[in-house]
Amino acid sequence: MRITDVQTFHLTAKLDKPFAWSLRWTDTRSAVLVKITTDEGIVGWGEAGSSGAPAIATVITSQYRPLLLGRDPFDVEIIWEELYALTRDAGQKGTAIDAISGVDIALWDIIGKAVGKPIHKLLGGCARSRVTVYATGLYYYDQDPRAVAARVEEACHYREQGYRAMKMKIGGLSIADDLFHVRAIRDAIGPDVPLMVDANHGYNAYTAIRIGRRLEELDVLWLEEPVVPEDLDGYLRVKSALDLAIAGGECEYTRFGFLPLVERRAVDIVQPDLGRVGGLSEAKKIASLANAAQIACIPHVWGTGIIVAAALQLIATLPNCPPVRNPQSIWHEPVLEFDRTPNPLRGRVAPEPELDAEGAIAVPPGPGLGIEVDEDAVRHFGREVIW
Ligand code: CA
Repeated sequence: MRITDVQTFHLTAKLDKPFAWSLRWTDTRSAVLVKITTDEGIVGWGEAGSSGAPAIATVITSQYRPLLLGRDPFDVEIIWEELYALTRDAGQKGTAIDAISGVDIALWDIIGKAVGKPIHKLLGGCARSRVTVYATGLYYYDQDPRAVAARVEEACHYREQGYRAMKMKIGGLSIADDLFHVRAIRDAIGPDVPLMVDANHGYNAYTAIRIGRRLEELDVLWLEEPVVPEDLDGYLRVKSALDLAIAGGECEYTRFGFLPLVERRAVDIVQPDLGRVGGLSEAKKIASLANAAQIACIPHVWGTGIIVAAALQLIATLPNCPPVRNPQSIWHEPVLEFDRTPNPLRGRVAPEPELDAEGAIAVPPGPGLGIEVDEDAVRHFGREVIW
Protein backbone atom coordinates (compact mmCIF):
# COMPACT_ATOMS: atom_id res chain seq x y z
CA MET A 1 0.00 0.00 0.00
CA ARG A 2 1.28 3.47 -0.88
CA ILE A 3 0.30 6.98 0.23
CA THR A 4 -1.04 8.92 -2.75
CA ASP A 5 -2.16 12.18 -1.11
CA VAL A 6 -1.87 14.16 2.13
CA GLN A 7 -4.37 16.97 2.69
CA THR A 8 -4.86 19.33 5.61
CA PHE A 9 -7.90 21.32 6.67
CA HIS A 10 -8.16 24.29 9.03
CA LEU A 11 -11.56 24.48 10.71
CA THR A 12 -13.05 27.31 12.76
CA ALA A 13 -16.41 27.94 14.41
CA LYS A 14 -17.59 31.05 16.27
CA LEU A 15 -19.22 30.59 19.67
CA ASP A 16 -22.47 32.25 20.75
CA LYS A 17 -20.88 33.14 24.07
CA PRO A 18 -17.17 33.49 24.88
CA PHE A 19 -15.59 31.64 27.81
CA ALA A 20 -12.34 31.98 29.72
CA TRP A 21 -9.75 30.13 31.77
CA SER A 22 -6.75 31.45 33.69
CA LEU A 23 -4.98 32.71 30.57
CA ARG A 24 -7.53 34.27 28.23
CA TRP A 25 -11.01 34.51 26.74
CA THR A 26 -12.01 32.74 23.54
CA ASP A 27 -14.97 33.14 21.21
CA THR A 28 -13.80 30.62 18.60
CA ARG A 29 -13.07 26.89 18.41
CA SER A 30 -10.69 25.63 15.75
CA ALA A 31 -8.94 22.45 14.62
CA VAL A 32 -6.41 21.18 12.09
CA LEU A 33 -7.36 17.88 10.45
CA VAL A 34 -5.23 15.62 8.26
CA LYS A 35 -6.56 13.34 5.53
CA ILE A 36 -4.21 10.73 4.04
CA THR A 37 -5.27 8.79 0.94
CA THR A 38 -3.75 5.53 -0.34
CA ASP A 39 -3.58 3.68 -3.65
CA GLU A 40 -5.90 1.01 -2.20
CA GLY A 41 -8.63 3.57 -1.66
CA ILE A 42 -8.25 3.51 2.13
CA VAL A 43 -8.38 6.96 3.71
CA GLY A 44 -7.15 7.87 7.20
CA TRP A 45 -7.94 10.91 9.35
CA GLY A 46 -5.90 12.60 12.06
CA GLU A 47 -6.09 15.70 14.20
CA ALA A 48 -2.98 17.84 14.64
CA GLY A 49 -2.40 19.99 17.72
CA SER A 50 -5.05 21.21 20.13
CA SER A 51 -4.39 24.91 19.43
CA GLY A 52 -5.94 24.76 15.95
CA ALA A 53 -3.14 27.01 14.64
CA PRO A 54 -3.09 27.06 10.81
CA ALA A 55 0.73 26.96 10.85
CA ILE A 56 0.45 23.28 11.85
CA ALA A 57 -1.29 22.52 8.55
CA THR A 58 1.37 24.41 6.63
CA VAL A 59 4.16 22.28 8.17
CA ILE A 60 2.37 19.13 7.03
CA THR A 61 1.68 20.25 3.48
CA SER A 62 5.00 22.02 2.89
CA GLN A 63 7.51 19.81 4.76
CA TYR A 64 5.99 16.39 5.48
CA ARG A 65 3.81 15.76 2.42
CA PRO A 66 6.72 15.31 -0.02
CA LEU A 67 8.28 12.72 2.32
CA LEU A 68 5.01 10.86 2.81
CA LEU A 69 3.95 10.44 -0.82
CA GLY A 70 4.71 6.91 -2.03
CA ARG A 71 5.39 5.54 1.48
CA ASP A 72 3.79 2.47 3.06
CA PRO A 73 1.51 3.53 5.98
CA PHE A 74 2.54 0.36 7.87
CA ASP A 75 5.97 1.99 8.32
CA VAL A 76 4.27 4.41 10.72
CA GLU A 77 6.92 4.51 13.46
CA ILE A 78 9.80 4.59 10.96
CA ILE A 79 8.07 7.54 9.30
CA TRP A 80 7.64 9.17 12.75
CA GLU A 81 11.39 9.03 13.36
CA GLU A 82 12.14 10.46 9.93
CA LEU A 83 9.73 13.37 10.36
CA TYR A 84 11.07 14.07 13.84
CA ALA A 85 14.67 13.95 12.59
CA LEU A 86 13.73 16.35 9.80
CA THR A 87 12.53 19.05 12.23
CA ARG A 88 14.60 18.23 15.35
CA ASP A 89 17.06 21.05 14.69
CA ALA A 90 14.15 23.50 14.66
CA GLY A 91 13.36 22.90 18.32
CA GLN A 92 12.00 19.38 19.19
CA LYS A 93 8.68 20.84 20.37
CA GLY A 94 5.77 22.93 19.16
CA THR A 95 4.17 23.19 15.73
CA ALA A 96 6.38 20.60 14.01
CA ILE A 97 5.41 17.92 16.57
CA ASP A 98 1.73 18.94 16.50
CA ALA A 99 2.00 18.27 12.76
CA ILE A 100 3.63 14.83 13.19
CA SER A 101 0.82 13.94 15.64
CA GLY A 102 -1.90 14.43 13.04
CA VAL A 103 0.00 12.41 10.43
CA ASP A 104 0.66 9.57 12.90
CA ILE A 105 -3.01 9.30 13.92
CA ALA A 106 -4.09 9.23 10.25
CA LEU A 107 -1.56 6.48 9.47
CA TRP A 108 -2.83 4.32 12.35
CA ASP A 109 -6.39 4.89 11.08
CA ILE A 110 -5.28 3.56 7.67
CA ILE A 111 -3.48 0.56 9.17
CA GLY A 112 -6.54 -0.38 11.22
CA LYS A 113 -8.84 -0.07 8.23
CA ALA A 114 -6.43 -2.11 6.08
CA VAL A 115 -6.44 -5.06 8.49
CA GLY A 116 -10.04 -4.60 9.64
CA LYS A 117 -9.15 -4.05 13.31
CA PRO A 118 -9.59 -1.15 15.75
CA ILE A 119 -6.29 0.55 16.58
CA HIS A 120 -6.28 -0.68 20.19
CA LYS A 121 -6.02 -4.28 18.92
CA LEU A 122 -2.83 -3.26 17.11
CA LEU A 123 -1.34 -1.36 20.06
CA GLY A 124 -1.39 -4.24 22.49
CA GLY A 125 -5.01 -5.22 22.92
CA CYS A 126 -8.17 -4.43 24.80
CA ALA A 127 -7.73 -3.84 28.54
CA ARG A 128 -11.23 -2.29 28.64
CA SER A 129 -13.98 -1.86 26.05
CA ARG A 130 -15.64 0.99 27.97
CA VAL A 131 -13.84 3.97 29.45
CA THR A 132 -15.19 6.01 32.37
CA VAL A 133 -15.15 9.70 31.56
CA TYR A 134 -14.89 12.90 33.53
CA ALA A 135 -16.60 16.08 32.39
CA THR A 136 -14.29 18.96 31.56
CA GLY A 137 -16.22 22.20 31.81
CA LEU A 138 -16.92 24.81 34.47
CA TYR A 139 -14.96 27.52 32.68
CA TYR A 140 -15.53 31.22 33.38
CA TYR A 141 -18.43 32.76 31.48
CA ASP A 142 -18.76 35.96 33.50
CA GLN A 143 -16.32 38.70 34.53
CA ASP A 144 -18.10 39.11 37.86
CA PRO A 145 -16.31 37.07 40.56
CA ARG A 146 -19.56 36.66 42.52
CA ALA A 147 -21.32 35.06 39.52
CA VAL A 148 -21.12 31.50 40.78
CA ALA A 149 -24.76 30.42 40.24
CA ALA A 150 -24.34 29.48 36.57
CA ARG A 151 -21.24 27.38 37.34
CA VAL A 152 -23.05 25.60 40.18
CA GLU A 153 -25.95 24.90 37.83
CA GLU A 154 -23.53 23.53 35.21
CA ALA A 155 -21.93 21.21 37.81
CA CYS A 156 -25.33 19.91 38.93
CA HIS A 157 -26.26 19.35 35.30
CA TYR A 158 -23.17 17.11 34.81
CA ARG A 159 -24.01 15.12 37.93
CA GLU A 160 -27.62 14.66 36.76
CA GLN A 161 -26.42 13.57 33.31
CA GLY A 162 -24.44 10.77 34.95
CA TYR A 163 -20.88 12.06 34.93
CA ARG A 164 -18.99 10.41 37.77
CA ALA A 165 -16.30 13.11 38.05
CA MET A 166 -15.73 16.65 36.80
CA LYS A 167 -13.06 19.29 36.45
CA MET A 168 -13.30 23.05 36.88
CA LYS A 169 -11.05 25.98 36.08
CA ILE A 170 -9.22 27.99 38.71
CA GLY A 171 -6.64 30.75 38.41
CA GLY A 172 -8.98 33.18 36.70
CA LEU A 173 -9.98 35.01 39.90
CA SER A 174 -8.36 35.96 43.19
CA ILE A 175 -7.51 33.01 45.43
CA ALA A 176 -10.41 33.91 47.73
CA ASP A 177 -12.91 34.14 44.87
CA ASP A 178 -11.70 30.93 43.21
CA LEU A 179 -12.02 29.10 46.56
CA PHE A 180 -15.52 30.52 46.92
CA HIS A 181 -16.39 28.97 43.52
CA VAL A 182 -14.77 25.60 44.29
CA ARG A 183 -16.55 25.45 47.67
CA ALA A 184 -19.92 26.30 46.07
CA ILE A 185 -19.49 23.55 43.48
CA ARG A 186 -18.25 21.01 46.04
CA ASP A 187 -21.27 21.78 48.25
CA ALA A 188 -23.64 21.43 45.28
CA ILE A 189 -22.33 18.12 43.89
CA GLY A 190 -21.75 16.54 47.30
CA PRO A 191 -18.77 14.66 48.71
CA ASP A 192 -19.01 11.58 46.47
CA VAL A 193 -18.24 13.14 43.08
CA PRO A 194 -14.50 13.47 42.43
CA LEU A 195 -13.70 17.11 41.65
CA MET A 196 -10.51 18.21 39.94
CA VAL A 197 -9.20 21.74 39.34
CA ASP A 198 -7.13 23.09 36.46
CA ALA A 199 -4.99 26.23 36.81
CA ASN A 200 -3.57 26.13 33.24
CA HIS A 201 -0.19 27.15 34.75
CA GLY A 202 -1.69 30.31 36.17
CA TYR A 203 0.36 30.34 39.41
CA ASN A 204 3.90 30.50 40.65
CA ALA A 205 4.91 27.76 43.09
CA TYR A 206 4.16 29.57 46.36
CA THR A 207 0.72 30.71 45.18
CA ALA A 208 -0.11 27.19 43.97
CA ILE A 209 0.86 25.82 47.39
CA ARG A 210 -1.19 28.49 49.14
CA ILE A 211 -4.38 27.68 47.22
CA GLY A 212 -3.53 23.97 47.13
CA ARG A 213 -3.71 23.68 50.96
CA ARG A 214 -7.23 25.11 50.90
CA LEU A 215 -8.22 22.88 47.96
CA GLU A 216 -7.23 19.83 50.00
CA GLU A 217 -9.80 20.86 52.61
CA LEU A 218 -12.41 20.79 49.81
CA ASP A 219 -11.36 17.25 48.85
CA VAL A 220 -10.09 18.23 45.41
CA LEU A 221 -8.64 15.14 43.77
CA TRP A 222 -6.00 16.71 41.57
CA LEU A 223 -4.49 20.10 40.87
CA GLU A 224 -3.65 20.39 37.17
CA GLU A 225 -0.84 22.50 35.72
CA PRO A 226 -0.15 24.56 38.84
CA VAL A 227 2.93 26.27 37.34
CA VAL A 228 4.37 26.87 33.88
CA PRO A 229 5.53 23.69 32.12
CA GLU A 230 9.15 24.88 31.99
CA ASP A 231 9.32 25.15 35.80
CA LEU A 232 10.16 21.58 36.74
CA ASP A 233 11.53 22.60 40.14
CA GLY A 234 8.32 24.56 40.73
CA TYR A 235 6.34 21.37 40.06
CA LEU A 236 8.54 19.47 42.52
CA ARG A 237 8.12 22.16 45.17
CA VAL A 238 4.31 22.16 44.77
CA LYS A 239 4.10 18.37 44.70
CA SER A 240 6.21 17.90 47.82
CA ALA A 241 4.23 20.56 49.73
CA LEU A 242 0.75 19.20 48.95
CA ASP A 243 -1.08 15.93 49.57
CA LEU A 244 -3.49 16.21 46.63
CA ALA A 245 -2.38 14.74 43.31
CA ILE A 246 -0.51 16.95 40.83
CA ALA A 247 -1.35 16.48 37.15
CA GLY A 248 0.46 17.96 34.16
CA GLY A 249 2.00 17.43 30.77
CA GLU A 250 -0.61 18.69 28.30
CA CYS A 251 1.88 21.32 27.04
CA GLU A 252 4.74 18.81 26.76
CA TYR A 253 5.95 17.06 23.62
CA THR A 254 7.38 13.61 22.83
CA ARG A 255 8.91 10.96 25.08
CA PHE A 256 12.01 13.14 25.34
CA GLY A 257 9.97 15.96 26.86
CA PHE A 258 8.20 13.63 29.31
CA LEU A 259 11.36 11.86 30.47
CA PRO A 260 12.39 14.48 33.08
CA LEU A 261 8.79 14.83 34.32
CA VAL A 262 8.68 11.08 34.91
CA GLU A 263 12.25 10.52 36.13
CA ARG A 264 12.01 13.29 38.70
CA ARG A 265 8.43 12.32 39.72
CA ALA A 266 7.35 15.92 39.07
CA VAL A 267 3.70 14.83 38.61
CA ASP A 268 1.40 12.10 39.93
CA ILE A 269 -0.53 11.95 36.65
CA VAL A 270 0.84 12.59 33.15
CA GLN A 271 -1.56 14.07 30.61
CA PRO A 272 -0.15 13.60 27.11
CA ASP A 273 -2.28 15.18 24.40
CA LEU A 274 -2.36 12.77 21.44
CA GLY A 275 -2.62 15.60 18.96
CA ARG A 276 0.44 17.24 20.41
CA VAL A 277 2.92 14.69 21.80
CA GLY A 278 3.43 12.93 18.47
CA GLY A 279 0.23 10.93 17.99
CA LEU A 280 -0.68 7.41 19.05
CA SER A 281 2.83 6.00 18.51
CA GLU A 282 4.40 8.50 20.90
CA ALA A 283 1.56 8.61 23.46
CA LYS A 284 1.88 4.83 23.86
CA LYS A 285 5.62 5.23 24.58
CA ILE A 286 4.95 8.04 27.07
CA ALA A 287 2.34 5.92 28.85
CA SER A 288 4.89 3.08 29.14
CA LEU A 289 7.52 5.50 30.43
CA ALA A 290 5.08 6.77 33.07
CA ASN A 291 4.06 3.23 34.01
CA ALA A 292 7.68 2.37 34.75
CA ALA A 293 7.55 5.06 37.46
CA GLN A 294 4.00 4.04 38.52
CA ILE A 295 2.70 7.40 37.34
CA ALA A 296 -0.85 7.28 35.97
CA CYS A 297 -1.51 8.30 32.35
CA ILE A 298 -4.78 10.19 31.78
CA PRO A 299 -4.54 11.85 28.35
CA HIS A 300 -5.45 15.48 27.77
CA VAL A 301 -8.25 15.72 25.19
CA TRP A 302 -9.38 18.94 23.54
CA GLY A 303 -10.69 18.89 20.00
CA THR A 304 -13.04 17.14 17.58
CA GLY A 305 -14.40 13.60 17.60
CA ILE A 306 -11.20 12.47 15.86
CA ILE A 307 -8.99 13.18 18.86
CA VAL A 308 -11.64 11.77 21.23
CA ALA A 309 -11.62 8.52 19.23
CA ALA A 310 -7.81 8.41 19.18
CA ALA A 311 -7.68 8.90 22.96
CA LEU A 312 -10.25 6.12 23.48
CA GLN A 313 -8.16 3.77 21.31
CA LEU A 314 -5.07 4.46 23.43
CA ILE A 315 -6.84 4.31 26.81
CA ALA A 316 -8.33 0.94 25.84
CA THR A 317 -4.78 -0.49 25.86
CA LEU A 318 -3.38 1.01 29.07
CA PRO A 319 -2.80 -1.30 32.04
CA ASN A 320 -4.29 -0.36 35.41
CA CYS A 321 -1.71 1.43 37.52
CA PRO A 322 -1.15 -0.49 39.71
CA PRO A 323 -3.07 -3.63 38.64
CA VAL A 324 -5.46 -4.65 41.43
CA ARG A 325 -8.39 -7.01 41.97
CA ASN A 326 -11.01 -4.26 42.15
CA PRO A 327 -9.73 -1.30 40.12
CA GLN A 328 -11.23 2.13 40.78
CA SER A 329 -11.60 4.78 38.09
CA ILE A 330 -8.93 7.49 38.20
CA TRP A 331 -7.16 5.84 41.18
CA HIS A 332 -6.16 2.75 39.17
CA GLU A 333 -7.94 2.92 35.83
CA PRO A 334 -7.29 5.59 33.20
CA VAL A 335 -10.28 7.77 32.33
CA LEU A 336 -11.23 9.93 29.35
CA GLU A 337 -11.23 13.71 29.57
CA PHE A 338 -14.59 14.55 27.96
CA ASP A 339 -14.74 18.21 26.99
CA ARG A 340 -18.25 19.58 27.52
CA THR A 341 -17.52 23.24 26.67
CA PRO A 342 -19.24 24.68 23.59
CA ASN A 343 -17.66 23.42 20.36
CA PRO A 344 -19.77 23.39 17.18
CA LEU A 345 -17.09 21.27 15.45
CA ARG A 346 -17.01 18.42 17.92
CA GLY A 347 -20.14 16.49 17.08
CA ARG A 348 -20.20 17.49 13.41
CA VAL A 349 -16.81 16.20 12.25
CA ALA A 350 -17.59 12.82 13.83
CA PRO A 351 -20.60 11.72 15.92
CA GLU A 352 -20.42 12.37 19.66
CA PRO A 353 -19.97 9.19 21.72
CA GLU A 354 -22.79 8.48 24.17
CA LEU A 355 -22.48 8.26 27.92
CA ASP A 356 -23.83 5.02 29.42
CA ALA A 357 -25.53 4.51 32.80
CA GLU A 358 -22.14 3.89 34.43
CA GLY A 359 -20.73 7.22 33.22
CA ALA A 360 -18.59 5.48 30.60
CA ILE A 361 -18.17 5.59 26.82
CA ALA A 362 -17.63 2.62 24.52
CA VAL A 363 -14.28 2.30 22.76
CA PRO A 364 -15.20 2.36 19.04
CA PRO A 365 -14.94 -1.29 17.92
CA GLY A 366 -14.75 -0.60 14.17
CA PRO A 367 -11.57 -0.62 12.06
CA GLY A 368 -8.97 2.11 12.62
CA LEU A 369 -10.21 4.96 14.81
CA GLY A 370 -13.65 3.38 14.52
CA ILE A 371 -15.42 6.58 13.45
CA GLU A 372 -16.86 7.97 10.23
CA VAL A 373 -15.52 11.46 9.53
CA ASP A 374 -18.07 13.69 7.80
CA GLU A 375 -16.03 15.36 5.07
CA ASP A 376 -18.93 17.63 4.15
CA ALA A 377 -18.82 19.01 7.71
CA VAL A 378 -15.03 19.33 7.49
CA ARG A 379 -15.39 21.44 4.33
CA HIS A 380 -18.33 23.37 5.79
CA PHE A 381 -16.27 24.56 8.78
CA GLY A 382 -12.88 24.58 7.14
CA ARG A 383 -10.72 25.19 4.16
CA GLU A 384 -8.03 23.04 2.68
CA VAL A 385 -4.61 24.49 3.45
CA ILE A 386 -2.30 24.53 0.44
CA TRP A 387 0.87 26.29 1.43
CA1 CA B 1 -5.84 21.30 31.32
